Amino acid sequence: MNFAANIKSKFPKVGTTIFTKMSAMAKEHGALNLSQGFPDFSPPASLIKAVSHYMEAGMNQYAPMAGLTSLRERIAEKMYENYSAQYNPESEITIVPGGTIGIYAAIASVVKDNDEVIIFEPAYDSYVPAIEANGGKAIFAELKFPTYKPNWDEVKKLTTARTKMIIINTPHNPTGSILSAQDMMKLEKLVKDRDIVILSDEVYEHIIFDGVEHQSIARFPELAKRSFLVYSFGKTYHATGWKMGYVLAPEALTEEFRKIYQYMAFACNTPMQYAFAEILKEKELYLGLSEMYRERRDYFVNGLKGSRFKLKPSVGTYFQLLDYSKISDLGEMEFAEWLVKEKKIAAIPVSSFYRKNDNHQVLRFCFAKNNDTLDKGLEILCKL
Ligand code: GLN
Repeated sequence: MNFAANIKSKFPKVGTTIFTKMSAMAKEHGALNLSQGFPDFSPPASLIKAVSHYMEAGMNQYAPMAGLTSLRERIAEKMYENYSAQYNPESEITIVPGGTIGIYAAIASVVKDNDEVIIFEPAYDSYVPAIEANGGKAIFAELKFPTYKPNWDEVKKLTTARTKMIIINTPHNPTGSILSAQDMMKLEKLVKDRDIVILSDEVYEHIIFDGVEHQSIARFPELAKRSFLVYSFGKTYHATGWKMGYVLAPEALTEEFRKIYQYMAFACNTPMQYAFAEILKEKELYLGLSEMYRERRDYFVNGLKGSRFKLKPSVGTYFQLLDYSKISDLGEMEFAEWLVKEKKIAAIPVSSFYRKNDNHQVLRFCFAKNNDTLDKGLEILCKL
C-alpha cells in the first residue's frame, strides 16, 4: 500500500507556481521567456564586487537574526528620505531572504484560526496559501477589469468582526496598476478604530512611471502604525536569484514577526547584507530605476504598435498586460500554452492570479529585458 497516497493534502487546491511551470515550459520548448518576472541583465558591477569582497574578507557566518545593523540603518535613512517615515533600525526593520518569506512571516505572525484576510484579485500567488497555511480565510475583493482599480465600498462590505488583515500591493503585480493617495485615504478611513493589520507589498516601489509618485503606506502615519511593509533587493538591484529583502513594521508588530521569522530562516546571507549596506549609499541606482524601466516599457509598447494586441496601461512594475481577444478565442492558459509550444514565447496567464474562474483573455509579459530580447519577442508577437 502506498502510505503517501493516503495522506490527505493540506493544500488540495495548490499546484506548482505558474512561474515555475511557465519557465520550465519555456526551457522545454526552447521559447523566449517573458513569463516569470526577472531581468536578463546583471546586478550593478559594484554590488557584485562588494559581495565577493565581503566573502573573501571572511564575512561568512550568521548575521544577527534581524539583520546587520549598518544595513538596517541605511534602510531607515532611505525610508526617511523617500517617504518622510521614521523606522527604528533596531526594533522596526528586519532583513529577510526575499519578499515571499517576508510576506509569509508577516501573515504567520498575526493570522490564526478562522481569521479573515481581505485580498484583491488578481492577487500575487503566494498570499492565499500563506493565509490558509495559518488557518486563515482569504476574502476576495476585486480589482475590476479592465481598469483594475479597487472599490473601497466593496471592501467595506467584506469587512467583518473577523477581519484580521488587509493585503495591498502597489505597484501591482500582475496588472501594473497603482494605488493613489486617495485610495490610501479611503483605506485609512475604513480601518480607523478597527484592529486590522495591513500588509503592504511594495516590492516594485522604485519601478513606477510617467512622474507618478509611489504612495508607500509609510507616507500615511495612521496606516503605517498598523502595517507591515515588504521590500525586495532582488527587484531593485536586478538580483532576484539572491533572494534578499526586508520587512518594516512598528515595534509591537515587528516583535511578533520576529517570534516566527527566527524559526523560519533565523537570518540571511551575511556578505550580501554588507554589500547592500554599501550600495544603498549610491542613491542614483534606485532613483534611476523608474527611468530605466520606463524606457524598456516604452520600447516594448511602441514595438507592439501595429500588432493585434490591445495594451493595458502599465504604470508600474516590469510587467505589461496584453489583451489577445482579436487574435484568439482560447482561454488564457490554453493560449499561453499554445504560444510557448507553437510560437516559442512564454507569458503568464492572468487567470493564475485568481481563485475564481476568471478569463479576460489577457497575458502578462515581463519587459525587464535587454532590447535584443525584446526585439525577438516583438518579432513573434507582431506576426500573430
Ligand atoms: N515575482 C515574480 C513574478 O511575478 C516571480 C517570483 C516567483 O517565481 N515566485 O513573476
